[in-house]
Amino acid sequence: MKINVLSSKIYNRIAAGEVVERPFSVVKELVENSIDANASKITINIVDGGKQLIEVSDNGYGIEKDDMLKTVMPHATSKISSTDDLNNIKTLGFRGEAIPSIASVSQMKITSKTENQDIGYTFEINGGEQTELVESPCSNGTYVTVSNLFYNTPARQKFLKSSKSEENEVGDMISRLMLAKPEIAFNFLVNDGTIFQSFGDGVEDAMIAIYGSTIIKNCFKISNYVHGVKIEGYISKHNFTKPNRTYQTVILNGRYIVNSTIQSAIHNAYSNYLMKRQYPFYVLQITVPPEIVDVNVHP
Ligand code: ADP
Ligand code: MG
Repeated sequence: MKINVLSSKIYNRIAAGEVVERPFSVVKELVENSIDANASKITINIVDGGKQLIEVSDNGYGIEKDDMLKTVMPHATSKISSTDDLNNIKTLGFRGEAIPSIASVSQMKITSKTENQDIGYTFEINGGEQTELVESPCSNGTYVTVSNLFYNTPARQKFLKSSKSEENEVGDMISRLMLAKPEIAFNFLVNDGTIFQSFGDGVEDAMIAIYGSTIIKNCFKISNYVHGVKIEGYISKHNFTKPNRTYQTVILNGRYIVNSTIQSAIHNAYSNYLMKRQYPFYVLQITVPPEIVDVNVHP
């Protein structure tokens, strides 16, 4: 048997299977890139559940002209450069896998401009084949579109759910990111119509944007600091429950996590008030020193 070293085009398409499962994962990676670029405003639009089009624009750092084409190369990242950096990761991404993976299974277009450039640049990648970089007038920040996801991998395309359920999954994830990063103004649109809009005015503003203005009066506000661990947030009064866990959000150092120990601790505390299939509502922000969290466990 001979050993072949796979070309980046084939390798990316295989890697894509791990990073990009559905529109939800594409939106998550793109929005996390916008957050990592320090954007204060992020707009997301999905058409046909994200199957036809996903658009994410931000007002973040942007990508330098000379770095634009590198974003499509596997393991190309501006976020870490040495193994030491792995122990102190402050960004959501750092593996440099998302863009090459998404680009290999879609038609992608990236447009960006940094503050110190007079003009922006744009290029397209079609199933991994990229065009040249061309000038494109735009404002500071980055604008990414992903069209026809999985058009070149029909087996995966068949696996997608209805547009409505893909939309719901994307919406749940965006709402978690809005709660995790309440200082960022988010606008989430489905088929060009706004679903949620927050203004970057803090967690109450984000909660109202997602759950409506009555949510605050149905919750207790909590704030506690013990042994270097800070817990802050909102938890529902005992007579306010929800039909599932979609309404339970735990943010650990700015990342949304699911933790069954926390889930059951809160559930047990409420158990006298809960009937079957009733769940307390909460949004909790837990802050611990970064070196005690392994981001490889909670990516
Ligand atoms: P990672 O986020 O793990 O670094 P990605 O494949 O998601 O890998 O992105 C590759 C690189 O492209 C990033 O490290 C960053 O330098 C650049 N990039 C991607 N999206 C943006 C964005 N919205 N704003 C600024 N830079 C971006
Ligand atoms: Mg990324």
